[in-house]
Amino acid sequence: MSSLDARLDVLRGTSLPLPHNARTLAALTANPACDRRSLIDAAGIDKDALAAHLGLPRPLRKSQLALKHGLAFEHRVIGRDHAELVRLLREALDLALPEVAYEDLNSVANGEDRSSPQLRHARTRSLIISAATNKSAPRTLLNHPVLRLPVAGHHVYLEPDVVAFHHDGTFHVVEIKSFPVIYGQADPASVAAALTQTAAYVLALRDLLADEGLPPERVSDTVVLINPLNFTQRPTATLESAHRQIRSLRRHLDRLRRLPELLDQLPLDTTFDLALDPHGKPTRPRSELTAALARLNPLYTPHCRRHCDLAIHCRNEARSRDRTEALGTTVREDIAGITTVTTALDLADGRLHPADAQEDITRALRHAQRLYTDLQAGTA
Ligand code: SF4
Repeated sequence: MSSLDARLDVLRGTSLPLPHNARTLAALTANPACDRRSLIDAAGIDKDALAAHLGLPRPLRKSQLALKHGLAFEHRVIGRDHAELVRLLREALDLALPEVAYEDLNSVANGEDRSSPQLRHARTRSLIISAATNKSAPRTLLNHPVLRLPVAGHHVYLEPDVVAFHHDGTFHVVEIKSFPVIYGQADPASVAAALTQTAAYVLALRDLLADEGLPPERVSDTVVLINPLNFTQRPTATLESAHRQIRSLRRHLDRLRRLPELLDQLPLDTTFDLALDPHGKPTRPRSELTAALARLNPLYTPHCRRHCDLAIHCRNEARSRDRTEALGTTVREDIAGITTVTTALDLADGRLHPADAQEDITRALRHAQRLYTDLQAGTA
């Protein structure tokens, strides 16, 4: 075990690691400068369990009903020997599929319901290379493959729903999503989030080909989203370009500070171990967890509520520390360099004399203050 892995193990404590997934990578692109999230995700710490133990609301928690709905839809698409999936891909990608063949990579070892990510990745890798180098390779669909992507100097395993191999030599990522397409339109925010997730798979597949000296552009940036149609469970497939999301994710991954640098700034005894008792109940004092979190730099924005389980903790912390980021990204950027709300108000009221670098912002704050006062008095 590397010393990096050993440090991450200490951070996580006795719980099993939660793997990074395309959703957490998409969230990294939403807030790549948050050291707190980068380290917690790299260590595979269960943020939802942390939030629950801290007694916080969990904004990302899906209802059991929504989870059941998603599973039922996926089952409908890939059940009956992939009949629906094959029909949809025939139409969407014009796959030559009299000869369609698939392999389910959930289990690649005898007698196991679900093999380890390492084993599944090795099998995925050999099938992808075989499909890419051998024209008569038999597999056209890989179900539940496992891909690997380096994130901040650390390998993470990713599980797309399906990878389809086209007869013209290109690979397409296929994602099954339970949000609906209603009369040809899906919710744009949901589509954007899905495309950012597929971008992670495309990058991992391209890295795999490039490692073998094969052209990475054989992995298409056109991905297939499969969603329920209108208000039914009937699936429909849509081709979407993930080009923008792929470029953005690559840029963010390249820019991510490497984990060793972040770990170097942390006291060696920092841990988020929940100290579970024999019944799985956390026994770690909340104050210790809060103190451990305070050692990692957050970068809170109100947008965090859409992608991070710790959003309520970080919001409360930003408010209690009087931080401007609690007011939103626009405010934070507009008054860049002024970190607390009190400083901004004192500059606006003239209680504080601005430093040279703060003069422009102070003028703007005082102008806004005047407008606000006039509006209040009805004279504007
Ligand atoms: S909620 Fe907190 S930990 Fe999560 S991304 Fe935002 S600032 Fe970082």
